[in-house]
Amino acid sequence: MRFPPFLQQKLPIQCTDCFGQSIKTMTDVFSKRNRSRIMSLVKNRDTAPEIIVRKAIYGMGFRYSLNAKDLPGKPDIVLRKRKKAVFVNGCFWHGHKGCKRASRPSSNRKFWEEKIEGNMTRDKRSKAALKKLGFSVLTIWGCQIQNEALLRRKLINFITGGLPNERKR
Ligand SMILES: [Zn+2]
Repeated sequence: MRFPPFLQQKLPIQCTDCFGQSIKTMTDVFSKRNRSRIMSLVKNRDTAPEIIVRKAIYGMGFRYSLNAKDLPGKPDIVLRKRKKAVFVNGCFWHGHKGCKRASRPSSNRKFWEEKIEGNMTRDKRSKAALKKLGFSVLTIWGCQIQNEALLRRKLINFITGGLPNERKR
């Protein structure tokens, strides 16, 4: 896949899917202001939220698989035996409600709205489908990974927690 030069070096890992789907349309509508906005969202690979979450889970002694293609929404991290699925979502691309990182650019409003709301609808659908399969689902937002202690607590509670989504008899 080819990315425009300004995106080639650093891509936000948590959002490669979104970029992959829309990179052509997006470059057409980039104004200079939008471009600098996008650039500010681009993260270094090593500090990308998904990697931080993976490392935290691994560090706590759990093993997982990545980008489970056979599961709805291809969760970023899956603990199959425990039936836990984790999505690491960028606040902007996945429309984190009430988050200042999720504020939308004022230009090309329609484009961004369609794009982001499309992602949100897809996310909701995937979550519901995973729950139907008996999975518990956790979404970690980009803005939630700065506090490592909190992140670990959240992950361990989720991973070792009960199975609230198990079918009730
Ligand atoms: Zn956020």
